[in-house]
Amino acid sequence: MGREYGKETICIQSGWKPKNGEPRVLPIYQSTTFKYETSEQMGRLFDLEESGFFYTRLQNPTNEFVAQKICELEGGVAAMLTSSGQAANYYAVFNICEAGGHVVMSSTVYGGTFNLLTVTMKKMGIECTVVDPDASEEELNGAFRENTKCVLAETIANPALVVLDIEKFARAAHSHQVPLIVDNTFATPINCRPFEWGADIVTHSTTKYMDGHGICVGGAIVDSGNFDWGKYPDKYPGLCAPDESYHGITYTERFGKMAYITKATSQLMRDLGSIQSPQNAFLLNLGLETLHLRVPRHCENALKVAAYLEKNDKVAWVNYPGLEGNKYYELARKYMPEGTCGVISFGLKGGRAAASKMMDHLQLAAIVTHVADARTCVLHPASHTHRQMSDEQLVEAGVAPDLIRLSVGIENADDIIADLEQALEAVDG
Ligand SMILES: *Cc1c(COP(=O)(O)O)cnc(C)c1O
Repeated sequence: MGREYGKETICIQSGWKPKNGEPRVLPIYQSTTFKYETSEQMGRLFDLEESGFFYTRLQNPTNEFVAQKICELEGGVAAMLTSSGQAANYYAVFNICEAGGHVVMSSTVYGGTFNLLTVTMKKMGIECTVVDPDASEEELNGAFRENTKCVLAETIANPALVVLDIEKFARAAHSHQVPLIVDNTFATPINCRPFEWGADIVTHSTTKYMDGHGICVGGAIVDSGNFDWGKYPDKYPGLCAPDESYHGITYTERFGKMAYITKATSQLMRDLGSIQSPQNAFLLNLGLETLHLRVPRHCENALKVAAYLEKNDKVAWVNYPGLEGNKYYELARKYMPEGTCGVISFGLKGGRAAASKMMDHLQLAAIVTHVADARTCVLHPASHTHRQMSDEQLVEAGVAPDLIRLSVGIENADDIIADLEQALEAVDG
């Protein structure tokens, strides 16, 4: 095949590649199960001696083709879809970190991820040390322990909009012989490919820009194939020692660079079952076909809106990493030269009360829990998504109590600004 395609071509053409006479568009394989000619062949599939489909909880062709597209966009070697972004981060960590293990995690990760690691996985015997993403390398190194299995962080944190110094985190992870897992939901592979900067595994909430239309909850995990699990057999027995639930298969020996995703599919998905439905995967694929067009437009609109807000008298502060003078502007230019994301956060001089009033006056921008889709929407994390967190945790997570999260859509930018303007007029100066 010689030529490596650009991301635009991958968005449109990758994944499903029809053979002669087959449907041009990715079909929905709406079937739980798959038929074989001989009992022996089915047996070989169950033994993972042959690859193929047998039950949709483990693998489904529609899902596979969509996972392949995401894999190619990220420049990985293997990928899988999950039912949600939550499931993706859970599987990505749990695949290599069991009871007795320890995770180093950035403090500014998405609220759901924060709870997953510090509350729910803690109950499973997995410990987590939370680190400031802006910590020095020395401080970062101090967070690691003998039993640390991975590092978890977000390219652009939701909703703190902290840009991760991916190289710094990768260096710290690798100097402790563990992989760096990066949740790339907000940047998307259109703006940043974390593998190029040293990340080993990427996760996604496909619910956001990848879907892009606010229609399906979903997730994905992509492996770069770069982390050499086999070098640390004592640290990663799940990958490097025989799996008794699979007739003693050793994933690293049998599957090489595919070991991590193969284990996550054939063991975690088998036992925990957080699959994406093929219908949803089909819709996700439609979203992916325009990802390369939508993401730049989101960024262009967000920059215009951020610049407008910055100049408005009633606005106390604006946080958008694409804005010159922002704390993360330089990091954003390095890792995402073409743009960051469509999400902005800001606070009003009138604080919490003014935020509620302004939000109630918005007409175009809707108050919804969701972010990162075609329609402009707005949320007050302290009263909504991050409601379970204490004020102290909020500050640690980079979410000021007065923070308004504005997800700028791909409508006409002037219309979005006019809507904000009339809503701000309703707020007392
Ligand atoms: C939304 C989100 C998640 C959780 O994804 P769901 O699809 O809602 O389960 C995880 N990480 C980030 C960065 C997110 O924005």
